[in-house]
Amino acid sequence: MKVGAIIAAAGSGRRMKSDRPKQYLALNGTPIIIHTIRKFDACKAIDYIIVTAPRESLDELTQLVKAAGFKKSVTVVEGGERRQDSVSMGIRHLQPGTDIIAVHDGVRPFVPVEDIEKVVEQAERSGAAILAVPILETVKQAEKNLVQSTLTREHLVLAQTPQVFRTSLLKEAFERAAGDEYYGTDESSLVERLGHPIAIVRGSERNIKITRPGDLTLARAFLEEEAGK
Ligand code: C5P
Repeated sequence: MKVGAIIAAAGSGRRMKSDRPKQYLALNGTPIIIHTIRKFDACKAIDYIIVTAPRESLDELTQLVKAAGFKKSVTVVEGGERRQDSVSMGIRHLQPGTDIIAVHDGVRPFVPVEDIEKVVEQAERSGAAILAVPILETVKQAEKNLVQSTLTREHLVLAQTPQVFRTSLLKEAFERAAGDEYYGTDESSLVERLGHPIAIVRGSERNIKITRPGDLTLARAFLEEEAGK
């Protein structure tokens, strides 16, 4: 099957409190987004890669990608206002004949290559699959500063990316969401609205989403470990 990856990297990174979007911050001298693309370049289940970038750094990312010398085709396209808009822009640039789409956050550079393979294989079998890990904390439903209820942990997982879907299914989910003006924080939530089952593939605790300044410390430690392997 032909599998395309869309890596969403068009965010502004406001929560990182830096003047650069977080996907461009350097880890070991290399921007986070390049580390992320490397994982997909190294994964045999992926045929080609589309990366969405903010308009103002489209040229910069294109240059970075060129300089990195990836084996696979990596195309940089302009993203949109929200994550969902950016992924939607990526979908428009899919190569003809793409059977499966794997959507990934540009700020998750530590996804294990074998996890990408596992979740793609599952989506090839059942149409939709995401990586997720069990929740270790207790999660409360809250209203302002008051606890409303406690959610049963056994029924909760933390969704990660890649989230992988048959192309026809993901396109239908995006069309439905656009029609309903529904915005979700991941692709799975859009596909869930169609009633299609989504398989959960156990991910890794290392697949962190680099979001806040403290995450960079952990990221540097993970990178050192990877380098030492
Ligand atoms: O904002 P959030 O933390 O959910 O971002 C997750 C990923 O989506 C990041 O890699 C970010 O660059 C990307 N994103 C995007 N387009 C946006 C907002 C976020 O591609 N408009």
